[in-house]
Amino acid sequence: MNAYVEKVYNGLVERNGHEKEFLQAVREVLEALSPVFDKHPEYENKGLLERFVEPDRAILFRVPWVDDNGKVQVNRGYRVQYNNAIGPYKGGLRLHPSVNLSVIKFLGFEQVLKNSLTSLPIGGGKGGSDFDPKGKSDNEVMRFCQSFMTELFKYIGADEDVPAGDIGVGAREIGFLYGQYKRITGLYEGVLTGKGLSYGGSLARKEATGFGLCYLTNAMLRKHGQSFEGKRVVVSGSGNVAIYAAQKATELGGKVVAMSDSNGYIVDENGVNLDVIKQIKEVERGRIKEYAARVPGAVYTEGFRGIWTVKCDIALPCATQNELNEEGAQALIANGVFAVAEGANMPTTYEATLALQKAGVLFAPGKAANAGGVATSALEMSQNSQRLSWTFQEVDQKLKGIMENIFANIDAAAKEYGQEDNYVVGANIAGFLKVADAMLAHGCV
Ligand code: NDP
Repeated sequence: MNAYVEKVYNGLVERNGHEKEFLQAVREVLEALSPVFDKHPEYENKGLLERFVEPDRAILFRVPWVDDNGKVQVNRGYRVQYNNAIGPYKGGLRLHPSVNLSVIKFLGFEQVLKNSLTSLPIGGGKGGSDFDPKGKSDNEVMRFCQSFMTELFKYIGADEDVPAGDIGVGAREIGFLYGQYKRITGLYEGVLTGKGLSYGGSLARKEATGFGLCYLTNAMLRKHGQSFEGKRVVVSGSGNVAIYAAQKATELGGKVVAMSDSNGYIVDENGVNLDVIKQIKEVERGRIKEYAARVPGAVYTEGFRGIWTVKCDIALPCATQNELNEEGAQALIANGVFAVAEGANMPTTYEATLALQKAGVLFAPGKAANAGGVATSALEMSQNSQRLSWTFQEVDQKLKGIMENIFANIDAAAKEYGQEDNYVVGANIAGFLKVADAMLAHGCV
């Protein structure tokens, strides 16, 4: 590692030793960026890296709300505004018990690079809470969202910071959050993305992350003389990203044979029936286990990590961070996997990524592969600013173009730095250079 880069990383470890997800994300990025700093020694004098790894600000707040029994519950809310060098802060809100400052910082840091890769003018941020929407009534979720927004509204705005959905935040939560923002501020502006179609949402936003993942994967496969046609595909998760990744993979000729949730996974050798998955997950908010009870021949197994033992050509981890560890990677390799593309954020551990790359598996990192969601959010912002709505086909075409462009850029950056086909290096370098350029132009801020 470049000496300056190492010094900055060690300083970060000293000050943030307990933030393990954040340090994991930063380490991967800095290792990839090392050759950039070899080439640009002048960056050190500008303190560029020290500024880049430190968020502009991290807001932490109390979220009190009343449950259905009349009892007051208290959660913790977060918004980390990481970097707005190339546009307003943009990034989702996650509601999950595992949320803490380290998780939100890792996601915000990754978001800066991802948003830069889209080539659209959006900076990076992320937020959320340790509130668990699972098992809560609609009214409880509404009261939580209203309380959360009653604090958050002070820090966001259509030209300032534009949150969106993430794990645990879908159309229902965005609706409640938007309603409260509008009530408090009196503004009808594009302050959130992922909105419902009746109040400013964009067609194809719901599908965008999963579709975009497959567009980028397809571009990567094409470069290597391959396609989805006739391939066995494993998709982990069964949430927003996973469902639409599975749909597009199927449309492109692949056969999705397995999906999961945090309890376990199903295998359906006939190809997963997505109507059944959507009914269970989007309508009933149920468990994936129910799929096996409804579809003859499908088998359910407890434990979500077992999904990587299912034989496949293409694996799309679309659930959560660190879901694919080295053991999972070795199982995929042993079964002859050809490509792994991350739909989730940092689903593959550092060791698993190295193992896959060493085995010659094509590997597309999340900051490039799942950028379709935020790119389409930026298209939603454009439509809101113009007071116009584009057709599904228009948005989908733009999304496809953006994902193919991202692949071309990360491929070119990897090549330029002598590491052809290493898309981890390519994505980190391509994403970083644009932000670095803007930060240098802005002076010492
Ligand atoms: P959802 O909440 O819709 O779905 C999450 C899925 O992951 C569910 O199937 C969930 O299972 C599973 N999951 C959650 N936590 C765990 C865990 N600890 N172990 C195993 N499985 C788990 O979220 P999204 O689909 O929106 O997000 C999935 C990933 O994609 C996240 O990493 C997110 O940051 C990333 N992402 C999302 C974007 C978007 O547009 N939505 C954009 C870019 C990235 P269960 O129901 O059992 O909890």
